Amino acid sequence: MKVAIAGGGIGGLTTALMLHGAGFDVTVYEAVPEPRPLGVGINLLPHAVSELRRLGILERLLPLGVATEELAYANRHGQFVWREPRGLAAGYPVPQLSIHRGKLQMALLEIARQRLGEGAVKTGRKVTGFVPDKGGAVRFHMEDSGTGRSYDERADVLVGADGIHSAIRAQLHPGDGTPRWSGELMWRGTTMAPPFLTGRSMTLIGTRGCKVVAYPLSAPDAHGNALINWIAVLNNTAQGLPGAEDWNRPGRLEDFLPEFAEWSFPWLDVVELMRGSEGTFVYPMIDRDPLPNWTSGRTTLLGDAAHAMYPVGSNGASQAILDARALTRALLEEADPSVALARYEQERLPATAAVVAANRRQGAARILDLAEERAPGGFDDVSDVFEPGEREAIAAEYQQVAGFAAAGVGAGGAGGPRG
Ligand SMILES: Cc1cc2nc3c(=O)[nH]c(=O)nc-3n(C[C@H](O)[C@H](O)[C@H](O)COP(=O)(O)OP(=O)(O)OC[C@H]3O[C@@H](n4cnc5c(N)ncnc54)[C@H](O)[C@@H]3O)c2cc1C
Repeated sequence: MKVAIAGGGIGGLTTALMLHGAGFDVTVYEAVPEPRPLGVGINLLPHAVSELRRLGILERLLPLGVATEELAYANRHGQFVWREPRGLAAGYPVPQLSIHRGKLQMALLEIARQRLGEGAVKTGRKVTGFVPDKGGAVRFHMEDSGTGRSYDERADVLVGADGIHSAIRAQLHPGDGTPRWSGELMWRGTTMAPPFLTGRSMTLIGTRGCKVVAYPLSAPDAHGNALINWIAVLNNTAQGLPGAEDWNRPGRLEDFLPEFAEWSFPWLDVVELMRGSEGTFVYPMIDRDPLPNWTSGRTTLLGDAAHAMYPVGSNGASQAILDARALTRALLEEADPSVALARYEQERLPATAAVVAANRRQGAARILDLAEERAPGGFDDVSDVFEPGEREAIAAEYQQVAGFAAAGVGAGGAGGPRG
């Protein structure tokens, strides 16, 4: 069976590797003529990492990132509201992985070309639309990104893994419109700086509308400095969007640093961290409303094309990888590809819609909003601010929704491998 994948991002390439491993004939069509390692840090949760291990590529990816050991939430005074172990430290059979998005994409591209053959990932091919074809197959249209020349190809199944501005999604749902903006902007950067807390900690500091996220992407070098990924999130409805969203739009330190001027804590100097970055990127906090369906006949959606979500809770890439596994399993187990796509959608659409909704509520980071509401000036003892078991329950609820509760990972549960 011939499967065509529109989009060679994290979701598209992982799907290609899984489908190829399952014996399908796969070709990826990527719009960018020469993919480059773009983006900054992302996190892969243990259920997604366990899928990468099943693919036999984890050993290759681990040295590119950091096995996250802890998640530490702090208020804007630098006081810890909640700390929890992550990945191996939390008892999962695999780590949570903090990794540079571009490095991950380039590694997946290289592995895909090695396993599927050089010609299996065609770059400079922008998929523009599709029509049903004879015998239940699908015919899709492409443009050469350089020359603008048009092509047509035919496949038994077409997967739209073409990101938040998906052309396949736009054809399936013409009324869907533009992404929804939360009113917040994110400035993202990386800085060589001393590691903080455990040295493998991820931290979230502040509240909704005024927050910093930081985590290391490398082990310390000979000078004791690691590459630290950081994100400053500010409500920006007054100034509005700086233009159409673009992951590579440069940002300006003066637009956000003053809001964090007091954030120099004994365990992390946020101001120094931001100042030390060579440059920053600015991107709006956007997502899309869940769709009523992803599939039409032999065409379906995957990853951000299907369920773009706020980058809260480390789920963008992780959920795309879970989609890839569910799609592979359905295509393997169902003789009729249309039935397989419907089954895949039935499994993944409600699950990812729940994550989109949970991320709109800030995921487990709402612990920070509660702390701010109840103790805006800080606290002497955090247990005066929360009921016994309250923070544990918030953290556990998000893990359930996103499918990475420890019992399910690697053991065939909610997020674990089943196929
Ligand atoms: C350049 C870039 C930088 C990013 N940086 C970050 C980041 O720093 N932090 C973060 O949390 N998330 C980032 N993301 C988003 C993150 O990669 C996704 O949320 C997540 O990995 C899910 O992946 P995906 O494969 O569904 O989508 P994406 O990773 O967005 O991949 C979609 C792919 O499809 C290609 N494409 C788009 N339209 C077409 C078309 N019509 N035909 C063929 N191919 C097409 C794109 O070029 C891209 O390679 C970035 C995405 C991109 C594209």
